[in-house]
Amino acid sequence: MNKINYVSTRNADNVVTPSQAILKGISEEGGLFVPVEMPEPDFKIKDIVNMSYKELAYEVLKLFFTDFTEEELKYCIDSAYDSKFDTELIAPLVKEKRDYFLELFHGKTLAFKDMALSILPYLLKTAAKKNGINKEIVILTATSGDTGKAALEGFADVEGTKIVVFFPEEGVSAVQKRQMTTQEGKNTCVVGIKGNFDDAQTGVKEIFTDNEFKKQLAENGFILSSANSINIGRLVPQIVYYFYAYAQMVRSGEIACGEIISFAVPTGNFGNILAGYYAKRLGLPINKLICASNENKVLFDFFNTGVYDKNREFMVTVSPSMDILISSNLERLIYHLSNQDKTKELMENLKKDGKYEFKISRNLFWGEYATEEETFAAINKVYKKTGYIMDTHTAVAYAAYEKYVNRTSDDTMTIIVSTASPYKFTKDVLRAIDEKYAEEDDFKLLDTLAQIQKAEVPAPIKNIDKREIRHKTVCEKDGMKDFVAQYLNIK
Ligand SMILES: *Cc1c(COP(=O)(O)O)cnc(C)c1O
Repeated sequence: MNKINYVSTRNADNVVTPSQAILKGISEEGGLFVPVEMPEPDFKIKDIVNMSYKELAYEVLKLFFTDFTEEELKYCIDSAYDSKFDTELIAPLVKEKRDYFLELFHGKTLAFKDMALSILPYLLKTAAKKNGINKEIVILTATSGDTGKAALEGFADVEGTKIVVFFPEEGVSAVQKRQMTTQEGKNTCVVGIKGNFDDAQTGVKEIFTDNEFKKQLAENGFILSSANSINIGRLVPQIVYYFYAYAQMVRSGEIACGEIISFAVPTGNFGNILAGYYAKRLGLPINKLICASNENKVLFDFFNTGVYDKNREFMVTVSPSMDILISSNLERLIYHLSNQDKTKELMENLKKDGKYEFKISRNLFWGEYATEEETFAAINKVYKKTGYIMDTHTAVAYAAYEKYVNRTSDDTMTIIVSTASPYKFTKDVLRAIDEKYAEEDDFKLLDTLAQIQKAEVPAPIKNIDKREIRHKTVCEKDGMKDFVAQYLNIK
């Protein structure tokens, strides 16, 4: 097996091992780590058709994390994908009439972030051991709602780590907020910021690239890492379910082995869909990756005009986990389609003017978006047609997919990537089904949704409104670094 190293998207001289890339999260110049060369799989699609999620995870992870031993990788995988998930399939593919949904919300926090964040703590601890790191690892994370909770669950009470999560005070759903503010664990810290997700993400990135501050932290026995999708340790585990979805399609006879399919992906930070791109580069027969945005349609405009322009009003939508104007992982795609010099130049433009130009062909990626109205209509339509209840993010992908089909008449079999449980966004989901729910209490509606589905409220959020609120801190968006210094008692 070839050794795979990682290089910064902005500096060709900054090359590190896989475990170092996971530990650093982001490179010193603010770039992201990408594989120096794409690994070549030693399996064929037909070999993976009958694999379990864990078996498949091993096949994919070993290609990218080549300085981990088989034993280490299997330990990480077994620890992550266990009974924390409410189905042994881990990521089941559900067919409703002619629609296919890849459900990525069966983990502990009911969103797709669990797919990678249940394994990241194990990867990180193993990486630290391998590199002889004896400092306490401090995970700093900005969240648009789902990453925060998934990271908190992953790292709570993990020895040798602390985790600090920043979320936009007024930019997450009621259930999302309560999930975070009731988080237990001695090493957890949750902070609302007066700003939006981009402010939180920018603040975290600034801390990461503040070398003076990092030195201070080191002197106090701390090392920073990130649980955001800028960490390659999050991206790689997400490649697995693209293969796994394909395997399930073959297994159930929906497609023949080798047949081409498409995915519609609800997109924010571009991490999920980028994992689909990596799957394609590894040989998965993908026709289109439909990049679905909500009204923050910066990516739709980018794929259609070649201009990425974040200078626009930030919209708060019913799919808050996609309320993002700076999609960090797009930097990785740009690097793969160009080089370090170009990437660095464009990212400097983005920082300076809030925009840049780069044309990407529509052969693989296709941008669409859904308005709020179209999102509600999609939930309603699918529910009426099949009884299946999509969450608001999944609905954005569904609506975007329908627009794509209308525009192109492409009838390639397409999987809708379903990123959250409807229970996380209960009020908006139920409102879409019947306006009468609009005025009701978010937490009461959990039971209503369960009744409609003839199911139970998922255990992780049952009685969440009765739990103790343990995190009440709020800080200004430019006070994040000071907050961290104070929390860690930095001298
Ligand atoms: C994070 C998230 C997304 C967006 O995923 P990216 O990898 O950031 O593009 C979509 N839907 C849900 C529910 C999410 O939590």
